[in-house]
Amino acid sequence: MKKVYAIAHTHWDFEWYFTRQEARVQFAYHMDEVLDALENNVLNYYLLDGQMSIVDDYLSSFPEKKTAIKKFVTEKRLFIGPWYTQIDEMVTSGESIVHNLAIGSQIANDLGGVMKVAYLPDSFGQGQDMPKIYNGFNIYSAVFWRGMPKEKNARYFYWNSNDGSKVLTANIKNGYYAGVQLVENDDFKDLLDRVSTDTESDELVLPIGGDQRSVDYNLKDRINLANEKLSDEYIIRESNYPQYFENLKKVKNLPDYSGEFIDPSASKIHRGIYSSRADLKQIYDRLERRMTYQVEPLMALAKSYGIEPKQGLVDDIWKTIFRGQAHDSSGGCNSDKTNDDILHRAKVADQLSYSIIDYLVRKLSISKNSPYDIYLWNPLPIEMDKVQTIQVSTKSKNFNILNNNGQTIDYDLLNQEIQNSAPLRRNTEERKQELYYISTISIKTTIKATSCVGFDIEETDNTNHSDMKSSSDLIENDFYQISFKDHQLDLTNKQNHKVYKNFLSFEDGADAGDTYDYSPAFQDWIINLDFSDADVKVVSGKYTNKITLKGSWKLPHNLDSRKEKMLDSTLEYKLTLTLEKGSETIKYQLDTDNQTLDHRLRLILNTNVNAKASFADTPFGFISRPVVDPHLNDWKNIGYHEEPTAMRPLIHFANIHSDDSSWSFIGLGSKDFQVVGKDFNKLAITMFRGVGYLGRPDLLRRPSDASGLESKYVETPHSQLQGKYTFKGGIIVGNEFNVADLQRQHLLLTTTPLFYQKQSLNRFTNPLRYFMVNKAVNFMDEAEQLINLNTDKLVLSSLALTKDSSGYALRVYNPTNETIEHAGTVELAKKAAVDNLNLNSEVLNTLETSTTEFELNDFKPGEIRTYGIYFIK
Ligand SMILES: [Zn+2]
Repeated sequence: MKKVYAIAHTHWDFEWYFTRQEARVQFAYHMDEVLDALENNVLNYYLLDGQMSIVDDYLSSFPEKKTAIKKFVTEKRLFIGPWYTQIDEMVTSGESIVHNLAIGSQIANDLGGVMKVAYLPDSFGQGQDMPKIYNGFNIYSAVFWRGMPKEKNARYFYWNSNDGSKVLTANIKNGYYAGVQLVENDDFKDLLDRVSTDTESDELVLPIGGDQRSVDYNLKDRINLANEKLSDEYIIRESNYPQYFENLKKVKNLPDYSGEFIDPSASKIHRGIYSSRADLKQIYDRLERRMTYQVEPLMALAKSYGIEPKQGLVDDIWKTIFRGQAHDSSGGCNSDKTNDDILHRAKVADQLSYSIIDYLVRKLSISKNSPYDIYLWNPLPIEMDKVQTIQVSTKSKNFNILNNNGQTIDYDLLNQEIQNSAPLRRNTEERKQELYYISTISIKTTIKATSCVGFDIEETDNTNHSDMKSSSDLIENDFYQISFKDHQLDLTNKQNHKVYKNFLSFEDGADAGDTYDYSPAFQDWIINLDFSDADVKVVSGKYTNKITLKGSWKLPHNLDSRKEKMLDSTLEYKLTLTLEKGSETIKYQLDTDNQTLDHRLRLILNTNVNAKASFADTPFGFISRPVVDPHLNDWKNIGYHEEPTAMRPLIHFANIHSDDSSWSFIGLGSKDFQVVGKDFNKLAITMFRGVGYLGRPDLLRRPSDASGLESKYVETPHSQLQGKYTFKGGIIVGNEFNVADLQRQHLLLTTTPLFYQKQSLNRFTNPLRYFMVNKAVNFMDEAEQLINLNTDKLVLSSLALTKDSSGYALRVYNPTNETIEHAGTVELAKKAAVDNLNLNSEVLNTLETSTTEFELNDFKPGEIRTYGIYFIK
């Protein structure tokens, strides 16, 4: 007899075509039903969707309900966690995913216990690194719905990661709402036959719930009725996921699969969400980078100087990030009202995060015993050797920068503005002239790991800045030369002397899709955009070299104009490429003013690689995917819900390479790419796409019903992304593909200077600069080079305080599929105890009780390791 475990739940989208606010009101009343049903034994168990954000919101309004929730959680009748929100797995960074589970688990544990099941019933595709992330939280079972390819059609299986991690997985193929039929329809056998395909297991799961669905009070009656009517083939009982997996675990010979699942098989997968609402992608990407590479390590470093951490602020920002990374929120496949809220919340978190940086950098700098005018901080455990562009304020036009030996160092003067610091007067002629200069300069510095450097400013008549020359249409550094000739950009790789003509261009095509999916127009017109009308400006210094192309591209205004091949709209652009001394990354910045509708703008790297596969990073590794999806031609015959176009997600980089050429794009918020061209030699990165509807029916790439709401057009004019937008990133052209190196280049590109100048001329570097701040009371000026990570083979994932702030958690991983022997060392400034931690900051074992250096030893393929470092007082 087959045992069917009926699991009552609700799937609670954090927000979608409705707002978070609308969902919160409904949830407030929904919880009355849930608590009432449990109290009166109308239901034995209830699953609150595996995520704590909705409970967190609920308890902030109704703290008096905490006792009731805790009671049912402790009794193992109400199941909560482990997530904070049900994330998107394809475009979210590893650290965001880990923090999401850590904070979700912590809140759930505070309420009586976390459900140790990785429950993501609705996420649009499943990432290959999820099993190892789950095992890092002692989670050994998982539930999902979307993405299994035709070739891997098992319902229950073991899902493996490259480091040997594994989770017992239930693929709820018929959807998290499948069991609603048990409540609403008497054809019980039909239902159970459908949910028992593709498995030999007699232990079956039947989720009973739906989007924002109210409690089914009659569930017990319906189960009894079904059991009466059914023959001996099935027996249904009320259950929960932990109980279900305890029984599934005993089933023998379940298949093993590894890798990602991103096929539109059981359901739509919406590969177009990687490029939907590029503005939201960008700001949330910036937030996760700033939190990981600046806020958390800086707060940890400040602690070592005696400045108490403010973990509550850090958690608040992370929670905002997680809300924005919930599967619909991250997808941007929402109403305008909802997307406006997602954007606004990000802006608030953006302010909060840079305010923490401003405050800490100032506090640290003014508390230092040595009296330098300028401080530049590096809170990361690796040496930072790069060109830094900063703004200094001086009384005189000319000045020298002196290093800590009192020697003058060179700098590039990129810009200089005159400001007046005298009090304002209504009659401007009465205003006194107290002039000073704000100069944007670039210098090249080496800042040791978890340290700072100081410089002095010497005001003078003569200066040491290099002249910014602008004589030709050419820039260069140690790695590249970029020239502008015949309206195109040519690149010379100075390492191998190869020349790539027209290496970078743009293309614009229609987007007749919606917020879920890109789709070409029925009568499309793809336009290759060149720089024939561009004004060219070149500035070259000792450290910074820029070429700027400014112009406007003619485009069809909308789908009708495109059909008629009319160029009745313009897109103003400014493209800036920057080469910095010693950097192998070509920085690009594209500023646009978009007044055109229903189109997609892509940056094209015209490479010399004929690619069979594309490469991109994943949360803790990288993945190779074919440039043509294996089911591109038979997807309709095998019942796929949309064309599996090879539009691919990236987190930090996309790459194609051959034996001797490697082309990489590093994105600062761009999440969608595709390898195109006759010979698959073009790496196309979506800058943005503009669409006017939440969901549309009958798209070229996605036939049938509209996604979102099937019977109503929801207009989303804000998703047209009209107005001014800036896109930034980097390009690396080299000889070989090296994931650790690409992640290092990403880190160098993303870390903005943490800089403070002790001065009183310009009190507006940030609004709070106006007010006095005391030096830190118990400042310990001895924390230089606290933690120094020496490895060029591993990727630095994070450095933060441990959960209880008693030590430092350093996380590194092996991004490759090979074992790395003798991966490196970690040097410590003082004696410390060192533990191995799991991803949830729990101690696995002790490595050292007192040491100033430890070996990283061998790393398994794909292994993630977190070291807890506790300095001995
Ligand atoms: Zn959902």
